[in-house]
Amino acid sequence: MRFINLTRQTEIGANSYFLELDGKKVVLDAGLHPKLEGDAALPLYKLVTDGSLDAIVISHAHQDHIGSLPVLMRRQPQARVFMTHPTAKLSDVMLHNSVNVMARQRDELGIRTYPLFTHREADRAAELWQSVGLRQYWTVEGERVPNPDHELTFEMYDSGHILGSVGILFRAEGKKVFYTGDVNFLDQTLMRSADFPEGDVDVLIIETTRGDRGLSQAYSRPNEERRFLTAIEEAFDKDGSVLIPVFALGKTQEILTMLHLFRLQGELKHVPIYIGGLSTKITILHDQLASLAPRQHAGLQILDSIGPHVLSSRDIQKTQISRRRIYALSSGMMTEKTLSNQLAERFLSDSRQSVFFVGYADPDSPGGRLKAAQPGDLIQLNGELPGQKLACQVREFDFSAHAPRELLFDYIRKISPRVVILVHGDPPAVAWFKTKISQELPGTLAIIPEAGKQYDF
Ligand SMILES: [Zn+2]
Ligand SMILES: [Zn+2]
Repeated sequence: MRFINLTRQTEIGANSYFLELDGKKVVLDAGLHPKLEGDAALPLYKLVTDGSLDAIVISHAHQDHIGSLPVLMRRQPQARVFMTHPTAKLSDVMLHNSVNVMARQRDELGIRTYPLFTHREADRAAELWQSVGLRQYWTVEGERVPNPDHELTFEMYDSGHILGSVGILFRAEGKKVFYTGDVNFLDQTLMRSADFPEGDVDVLIIETTRGDRGLSQAYSRPNEERRFLTAIEEAFDKDGSVLIPVFALGKTQEILTMLHLFRLQGELKHVPIYIGGLSTKITILHDQLASLAPRQHAGLQILDSIGPHVLSSRDIQKTQISRRRIYALSSGMMTEKTLSNQLAERFLSDSRQSVFFVGYADPDSPGGRLKAAQPGDLIQLNGELPGQKLACQVREFDFSAHAPRELLFDYIRKISPRVVILVHGDPPAVAWFKTKISQELPGTLAIIPEAGKQYDF
């Protein structure tokens, strides 16, 4: 077996991994770096000979896993592309949105290589994707087989991260290789915890997102939901409103479902809720797929149940910010020009208003800077506007879609693979796992794969 990390650095960026098994060549995921621009945002596709891949297998529809798929498909037109049905539906919307964002960046920032692909290319790519169900055996030639006694097969397992997300188990050469993709071993409000293979895996490729911080003993999802509800009530008592910056895919639907349950329990009455942009399209897909993918509250129609108001960028500029409103707006990191960034501009210097973070924000992003700021600090969320003194309330809640490191390590211990390849984490995160594995699992070799380096097992 051969493995090459095509992600350019040890980080959560343009995730992509090359795997050669039984003479077949596969690429796992085809991400686009959320922070870098132009070619630097792409994985190291140059290391894979054009026209040589047998298959591309996608774990889920987040940008850092599918954002450059049309580019990879252009270089590898013969490769078959596999993903779950929900991932295909979501990826289609995500990629078209990405073309729009890149076209805007071309105009505004003068990035001449953008967009990296066109709407037409995204459409043509989607026509070629092959949907694969959970717990089925498939060959890389695209044939579903009754058992895995084939030279090389793969099988998808629900990974509990977002709608359609999976881990992928390869069987070849009498060995098993399992790629977790992004995983959660805890139930979320909407998504159910991962349903992963247990037992003999020879090589485990595992995400390590939360490896840099331990989970507090007191943490539980229901407690955190309670804390969130109390904070909303406190914000309303001040006659203010609440802005929740959210990723369009995943976090928006989790938060809307949470708010719906609060309402059902009679704890949040007559509160107008606002969403916008890409979130609306993605939530419609969650509703269409409500009974087709593993999740909690099967069949729940989020949009019908919550009845959110939909805001456009133009609405945000002129909307009256009344009291007791909830704005669950993307982007989660408050990237400039997005709805959450624009509304935050109007919240910052108003002490009645609150901003609640419910997920990750890169420290260099506007959201990350706001998270780190102290009351009274001068804060600038948009380079074109003057900074403002921070007066609104800023709070943080942990509704992560990634498993805490303790549970990831429990999983590694349970299956005790011969080799663990640590991916999808910043240097301190992968380092924690490497140390922990060398201390507690002497029979397991932990590898932090260098970008572009070839590993043979
Ligand atoms: Zn993800
Ligand atoms: Zn990811």
